[in-house]
Amino acid sequence: MQDVLIIGGGMAGASAAFFMASGRRVTALEAEAHCGMHTTGRSAALFIEGYGNAAIRAFTRASRQFFLDPPSGFCEIPLLTPRGVMVIGTEAQRSRLEALYAETAAESSAPLEWLDAGASRSEIPVLRPDYIDAAFLDRSAMDIDVDALHLGFLRGARRQGAQIVTNARVDAIERVGGTWIVRTPVGVFEAPILVNAAGAWADQVAAMGGATPLGLVPKRRTAMLVDAPPSINAKDWPGVIDVEEMFYFKPSSGKLLLSPADETPSEPGDAQPEEIDIAIAVDRVQQAADLPVTHISRSWAGLRSFFSDKTPAVGWDPQVDGFLWLAGQGGYGIQTGPALGRLAAVLVTGGNIPDEFVVEGADPDFLSPARFQQPRSE
Ligand SMILES: Cc1cc2nc3c(=O)[nH]c(=O)nc-3n(C[C@H](O)[C@H](O)[C@H](O)COP(=O)(O)OP(=O)(O)OC[C@H]3O[C@@H](n4cnc5c(N)ncnc54)[C@H](O)[C@@H]3O)c2cc1C
Repeated sequence: MQDVLIIGGGMAGASAAFFMASGRRVTALEAEAHCGMHTTGRSAALFIEGYGNAAIRAFTRASRQFFLDPPSGFCEIPLLTPRGVMVIGTEAQRSRLEALYAETAAESSAPLEWLDAGASRSEIPVLRPDYIDAAFLDRSAMDIDVDALHLGFLRGARRQGAQIVTNARVDAIERVGGTWIVRTPVGVFEAPILVNAAGAWADQVAAMGGATPLGLVPKRRTAMLVDAPPSINAKDWPGVIDVEEMFYFKPSSGKLLLSPADETPSEPGDAQPEEIDIAIAVDRVQQAADLPVTHISRSWAGLRSFFSDKTPAVGWDPQVDGFLWLAGQGGYGIQTGPALGRLAAVLVTGGNIPDEFVVEGADPDFLSPARFQQPRSE
């Protein structure tokens, strides 16, 4: 018998295991042979405080301290490295850009820089003069070392005694007398508490456990790595995002990562890139920038899973005892990972809400699954 079973070994499940393991018997069950095979292994690896809605922004800020100063022995390399991100707009997008600038500047912990077309082209010389009207630059945006964070959580959880069991796809869940009985091909596991960190599959897992699905929609997003033209030194460019999030590009591993910022509703599964989305990415980026694409070295897709309000659900199911949601991280599950994992642990252990949550306005009520459900009348 365990104290806590976690379903899913991606960023959500790994972070929960890490923060819950001290003094508790914790087992994370991962369907695949490797824990980062799904969305966690497919991200664009950015930390942007101004990205997402107010709840996302608050939990991103509440994660910052962990990223900058993780516990000793967590990893040997920095989790964040400077990148910066530039939000760009055309003349027709000017009012949207100004509105987003004002909204983002009001909360940002670092000053944003407003750039006219000339200053934008000083940062990214390939931006087309007939496209770019203005931009704003957030120099505090960072690249995240996603592998170091994910492996740090998994390794740290194991060090505290947690088990991470791979090839353990949960295929049946029962609740008998206050105990969850969870069946997988590699064994049956039992605990009074079940954490649903199953990414795109979270609603399916909920249904298996007798909880009401919350309307999660996995949305496919495509990315690719292309060679930067040899005449261009793009290594230190900030990431570039269109103000309406129709495309983005950023330096990555000596190449450029491009995305059409697609959000195609999809079934949970092993998402694959479609040719049409790759072509759209190249076309949209080339409308904005003089960037010949001669070779695509790799393309991939992953599922960003959203609830209707684009806010994760982290909290107890209001109808089913012992069932904790940790799902719906959308396009922000890496940058919010430390705070959401910690919140899940606080809910399980009954500890105090960390000070930085209060300072940053990261109110756990924003994430309560009860916002979708009415308690069942007896
Ligand atoms: C192209 C792209 C770009 C992104 N860019 C960023 C970014 O820049 N910054 C950012 O913060 N976020 C970004 N994201 C989002 C981020 O990657 C996700 O929010 C995060 O990885 C979600 O983690 P997860 O653990 O919930 O999901 P997953 O990593 O998918 O993990 C869920 C796990 O549950 C397992 N599972 C499911 N069902 C079962 C079962 N029945 N039994 C056992 N195991 C099960 C799955 O095998 C899977 O490994 C991006 C995503 C994509 C696709």
